[in-house]
Amino acid sequence: MNFDTLFNAQLDALKKEGNYRYFAELERKCGKFPRAGNHVDGEVNDVTVWCSNDYLGMGQNQLVIDAMCKAVQRTGTGAGGTRNISGTNHDHLLLEAELADLHNKEAALLFTSGYVSNWAALSTLGARLKNCVIVSDAGNHASMIEGIRHSRADKVIWKHNDVADLEAKLKALPADVPKIVAFESVYSMDGDIAPIRQIVEVAEKYGAMTYLDEVHGVGLYGPRGGGVAEQEGLMERITLIEGTLGKAYGVVGGYITGSAALCDFIRSFASGFIFTTALPPAVAAAARTSIAHLKQSDTERLQQRAQVAKLRAGLDRAGIPHMANDSHIVPVMIKDPVKTKMIADYLMTEWGIYVQPINYPTVPKGTERLRFTPSPLHTDADIAHLLNALTSLWKQCAISHAVA
Ligand SMILES: *Cc1c(COP(=O)(O)O)cnc(C)c1O
Repeated sequence: MNFDTLFNAQLDALKKEGNYRYFAELERKCGKFPRAGNHVDGEVNDVTVWCSNDYLGMGQNQLVIDAMCKAVQRTGTGAGGTRNISGTNHDHLLLEAELADLHNKEAALLFTSGYVSNWAALSTLGARLKNCVIVSDAGNHASMIEGIRHSRADKVIWKHNDVADLEAKLKALPADVPKIVAFESVYSMDGDIAPIRQIVEVAEKYGAMTYLDEVHGVGLYGPRGGGVAEQEGLMERITLIEGTLGKAYGVVGGYITGSAALCDFIRSFASGFIFTTALPPAVAAAARTSIAHLKQSDTERLQQRAQVAKLRAGLDRAGIPHMANDSHIVPVMIKDPVKTKMIADYLMTEWGIYVQPINYPTVPKGTERLRFTPSPLHTDADIAHLLNALTSLWKQCAISHAVA
């Protein structure tokens, strides 16, 4: 059997739809954020990255770099094992204490990524709590969906950010089964923010636990970067808060925080926590430094917000429709995968602007878009350059000016 023929048939179908993924080969340059080299056919071109999830440029923050370098010198490269067998390092426990404090919880548990933390925590909760039903927002991230699927627990999907629908779904469930309401704070593709307070109130009314993914909130919202739930004064009322160390904190890793019993439960039963090598201690040290810095510094957050506002205002002036939301994410809808890629290619080659075309299955078909994430390190000149590029493109091509 020729397996490559089978593989290629499906890849060709993806290409025909315009949904095949091309990765930009970047070379990040420390100290130059958001500039990077773009490798194409043996050449390297300077580009400005407009779609990084290193939202605040913390991956190139000198304090974070120093923490990682010093920790590598002190501890070496790897952790030396799984958390169970010789891999638990002092730096992991210091980081878990920092995370518990960030979210005002008794405990925290570290994973190799945010994806793994969602997958492991939800699959363990759903599988181990007898008769558990997971009530999941329709817009939830793939890592939550996969975790729920793997748990084999009953799943009920509620309409995205629709509290009335959530209540109807909870009401329909037997009173005595354990229920988990799983949702996110900032949804990363539309940049919309969940009505956390109402969700928590409904969940409390029906005795459900709340599972909140703050991946796009941590570091960015709240007086100490604890996320949208911190900003809203709601952290204490949420059972489990999950986050990443790979986005605003600029390193890598994921975590959950909650009660001591909850974290001990996941620690003891989650395959995705137990049977994998622990993160390098130097990664933990760098992440802890990044969190500690953003707990006491608002400078990066305020500057980011200023640049986000400037980009939105500029798009408005240019008549380029973008999705309104209360977050740091600026989606410009193109609504066609081929067009989206053409525009992104043109921005890259003609203007030195890198923004990844977002297509299916990351977003539903017909909602393809460009997703801009201005950082505190994008200058006013960078924004002006981007607006010039988009304006000239919108003039040349028949791209809709209709509001998304
Ligand atoms: C990126 C993302 C994750 C996964 O986090 P990683 O640390 O990148 O694995 C989880 N949830 C949401 C909503 C995300 O966007």
